[in-house]
Amino acid sequence: MKAITVEPRKPGTARLEDIPEPGAPEGSVLVEAIAVGICGTDVEIADGKYGWAPEGAKRLVLGHESLGRVIDPGPRKTLRPGDLVVGIVRRPDPVPCPSCAVGEWDMCRNGKYTERGIKEIHGFMSERWRIEPEYAMKVDPSLGLLGVLLEPTTVVAKAWEQVAAVGHRAFWEPRTVLVTGAGPIGLLAALLAKQHGLEIHVLDRVESGPKPELVKALGATYHSGAATDVGFQPDVIIECTGVGAVIADSLRAVSAGGVVCLTGVGSGGRVGTLPIADMAAEVVLRNNVVVGSVNANKRHWYRAGEALARADRSWLARLVSRRVRPEEFASALKREPDDIKVVVQFSEA
Ligand SMILES: [Zn+2]
Repeated sequence: MKAITVEPRKPGTARLEDIPEPGAPEGSVLVEAIAVGICGTDVEIADGKYGWAPEGAKRLVLGHESLGRVIDPGPRKTLRPGDLVVGIVRRPDPVPCPSCAVGEWDMCRNGKYTERGIKEIHGFMSERWRIEPEYAMKVDPSLGLLGVLLEPTTVVAKAWEQVAAVGHRAFWEPRTVLVTGAGPIGLLAALLAKQHGLEIHVLDRVESGPKPELVKALGATYHSGAATDVGFQPDVIIECTGVGAVIADSLRAVSAGGVVCLTGVGSGGRVGTLPIADMAAEVVLRNNVVVGSVNANKRHWYRAGEALARADRSWLARLVSRRVRPEEFASALKREPDDIKVVVQFSEA
């Protein structure tokens, strides 16, 4: 079968090639791939900056934002042929650490977890893949291709849970939320904020194109300036850019008692001579919390599925801005100006 594979840590090695059909050890559920979303992590892996092949293998099947159709549900009858499923990405570490031991692999403490398409387990960019039934999440069939948005939605479902958990350390009635970055994660974070009944503001660099339109279509306010210039102090800021200056502005802009949730992963971004102790004093005096959030456990996968099922289909459809065939995967890895979520489509939904 055809698969998109890469030799991790070697730039320019991604290719579409024939590989053996997935074997039984990979899981008792056999799935036909429909689509796989591309995110920054895939680009980093293809650029040789990240990623690990499975033990004993040289190459890794890429892809962690999956959507497929069950061909054979295997002996456990929790799924049926034809069900749309998305594969959970992370697997608990083998030790396991206390977090993994209780099923919160997203909070893994020793870093020995594995991840499909990223770290030591093959991903989903192959015509067929196998999965353990407990890691196959059924999606609302009416979502069709839009089920491919489930994995990025799990990231924001967890972020919201973290914000709520932190917020409830004191009296907590948030009204306003600012999302920084109008990429897929930012827009999905705004969608969940909308479903939580909050007043939503989204900030991004661009001043035209699909992002401002998508924000307005959600009933939210779009800003293209700095977080400190939005004209109010947000109760919650979901930071989705990983850009140093945006993070620094977010810490300055958040309201007293407010929560800044960092979901972006950047690097560098030195901002002038930012005095850390001064900034810490502001955080102390205003009871702020800065919380990082990555990955998701099964509870977040469930909640993300519920959120997508409730969402407006035509709005979600606009997030999937480009679909390419597996033969054209290289073009999917290159960002184009109006890209939001690019997917490699293996078969019809
Ligand atoms: Zn762990």
